[in-house]
Amino acid sequence: MEKIKMTTPLVEMDGDEMTRVLWGMIKEKLILPFVDLKTEYYDLGLLNRNATKDQVTVDAANAARRLGVAVKCATITPNRQRMEEYPELTEMWKSPNGTIRAILDGTAFRAPIILPAIRPVVKNWEKPITIARHAYGDMYKAADMTTEEPGTAVLTFKGESGAERTLTVQTVDGPAVWQGQHNKESSIRAFARSCFQYALSQKQDLWFSAKDTIAKVYDGEFKRIFEEEYETSYQAEFKKLGITYFYTLIDDAVARCLRSKGGFIWALKNYDGDVMSDMVAAAFGSLAMMTSVLVSPDGTMEFEASHGTVTRHYYRYLKGERTSTNPMATIFAWSGALKRRGELDGLENLVRFGERLEAASLQTLEEGVMTKDLLPLVEPGFQARGVDSEEFLDAVAARLA
Ligand code: NAP
Ligand code: MG
Repeated sequence: MEKIKMTTPLVEMDGDEMTRVLWGMIKEKLILPFVDLKTEYYDLGLLNRNATKDQVTVDAANAARRLGVAVKCATITPNRQRMEEYPELTEMWKSPNGTIRAILDGTAFRAPIILPAIRPVVKNWEKPITIARHAYGDMYKAADMTTEEPGTAVLTFKGESGAERTLTVQTVDGPAVWQGQHNKESSIRAFARSCFQYALSQKQDLWFSAKDTIAKVYDGEFKRIFEEEYETSYQAEFKKLGITYFYTLIDDAVARCLRSKGGFIWALKNYDGDVMSDMVAAAFGSLAMMTSVLVSPDGTMEFEASHGTVTRHYYRYLKGERTSTNPMATIFAWSGALKRRGELDGLENLVRFGERLEAASLQTLEEGVMTKDLLPLVEPGFQARGVDSEEFLDAVAARLA
């Protein structure tokens, strides 16, 4: 069989532990037999990050900016316990995802992989709901304090020009608690652009919700920037694709979301996104079935699984056990990256291959062959057989061929 040709490489970021093992198997069984794969390879495994003083993470992120598409394996973010586990570490290296997100100025979109045999808790949800959380500012970068006596708090801004603006926050008659929050125009705008870009790439409606009836200035600024970006840069393309941008109040959006069939992207401020992403993930079922895409305002996309390196399984694997670790989210990271590469390069065959890889994986699950984590989640009466990761990948490969 003739292998599918690629013109531009994509950035491949290898990672750690069980997901690194799955990474190799996915490439060997599902991709290399069918695609003449071109990647720029960066080893983001913890030991290589340590050996390069984390330069490899920066290089990988810059390569993603240059080539426009990346696929990333889960990686260890070291903590105190990991410093003991890996005594050769010279520093407690920062989260690679944090470093990459900062360089790409990106927003992470989280979407569940869904199939009829695993019904979401919300029974009318038929299609995935993708959550985009603004990952900068608000209460996550706030200044807080408590005070004990009656008095007045003011908010003062001192400009570099020397100009000052002061507002009274409140006068209180006893002990009180205070918080000062901010966000940056540039960050809100980058967030909005990433959301519009991703909606276009997915051909799905985009919702954005906030509370601008109460926070007229603060949330009003978010609403204004989204509208401005939409009207100046995206409206025409949205119309062409028949998708819509839709702003509504956060409480209305929550109610509409629960009553919807799904199939849209929901952009949320930092705190709202923190809360709603956990609710949506739990309602759809499993962390092992969540994918994540980091999208920069210029349309660069980095695809990955939402879960971590599945450490517990890795230690069983090291003892020679065959583990039943779910590779679905990592497979979908690869298929997403290949489809995006194909779209950008006008390679119809590569796009179709990504679609077929997804279809073969879903078909395998639908035929009742699944990793053991999914068995407790299937509908009563659905006949399923738990297999290990390698058997699952072989079953997908057989359907793909
Ligand atoms: P985790 O690796 O997601 O695993 C937590 C537990 O969830 C697992 O022990 C397993 O439960 C279950 N699970 C997750 N993914 C699964 C899959 N694909 N198939 C089957 N079961 C799955 O989270 P963690 O244990 O908190 O973190 C481990 C390491 O991953 C940490 O070093 C952390 O820094 C890193 N991490 C990386 C990323 C990233 O790179 N994006 C994200 C999160 C965490 P059972 O053991 O009960 O089977
Ligand atoms: Mg949360």
